[in-house]
Amino acid sequence: MSGRLAVVGLGPGNDRYLTPEAAAALADAHALYGYGPYLDRVPARAGQSRHPSDNREEAARAADALRHAAQGVNVAVASGGDPGVFAMAAAICEQIAIGPETWRALDVVFIPGITAMLAVAARIGAPLGHDFCALSLSDNLKPWPLIERRLDAAAQAGFALALYNPVSRARPWQFASALERLRRHLPPATPVIFGRAVGRPDERVAVTVLENAANEPADMATLVIVGTRETRVIERPGRSPLVYTPRAVPPALAEASA
Ligand code: SAH
Repeated sequence: MSGRLAVVGLGPGNDRYLTPEAAAALADAHALYGYGPYLDRVPARAGQSRHPSDNREEAARAADALRHAAQGVNVAVASGGDPGVFAMAAAICEQIAIGPETWRALDVVFIPGITAMLAVAARIGAPLGHDFCALSLSDNLKPWPLIERRLDAAAQAGFALALYNPVSRARPWQFASALERLRRHLPPATPVIFGRAVGRPDERVAVTVLENAANEPADMATLVIVGTRETRVIERPGRSPLVYTPRAVPPALAEASA
């Protein structure tokens, strides 16, 4: 009996962002694994067992799910947003790489979801309209000096930045320090977007500029997008502004930032 393991992206918020493929994989599963609040978003189905776990237990959760699938069970691991972006897909691969040979024989599928940066960007225009990169500010899994080097390199190279995991209770000072770092490379008026709980009832999206960004509230449910030298804000009467990064970089600007 060979089991199946689906690593499923739930999207950032409610069902509106759940793809039909992800919904089908969740409905088909006989056992569901995931961070508790994510599992709460999956409709209950008779005969399906649920195995919620804590946020920080990704490796153990991945191993438990693989062990269960190896017993011939159809297992789904639910992940917020896209499972390949700072989430469970890599945790599953890491366990397969070090786990028993039988795990390599499993039918493992990865089902994409809408990641937070795309949902936030879509709320406000096209801040990621040209080259961009995504960074996690969490130093749980990598040292802070490496994060600083990556912030420097990305800002110097002219990428717009999508910053995941800006703040948590265990990491109170890192976000302000990251903004301070970016101010060395980018003009004070660079647009910065704070998207909180996008796709959920308590969603809040705010636009500010780099020099004021440290005053904006940010928490674990916030994704921050920092624009480039080219990123523009279009004010609109009676409507929220549009923020966009044009698709072209003028040759003069490209030389100036080289
Ligand atoms: N796999 C997820 C990211 C997991 S890391 C994805 O693809 O979106 C967790 C971080 O994602 C949070 O700290 C926050 O920065 C961001 N995030 C997740 N859901 C969000 C949402 N609904 N609104 C804004 N940011 C969100």
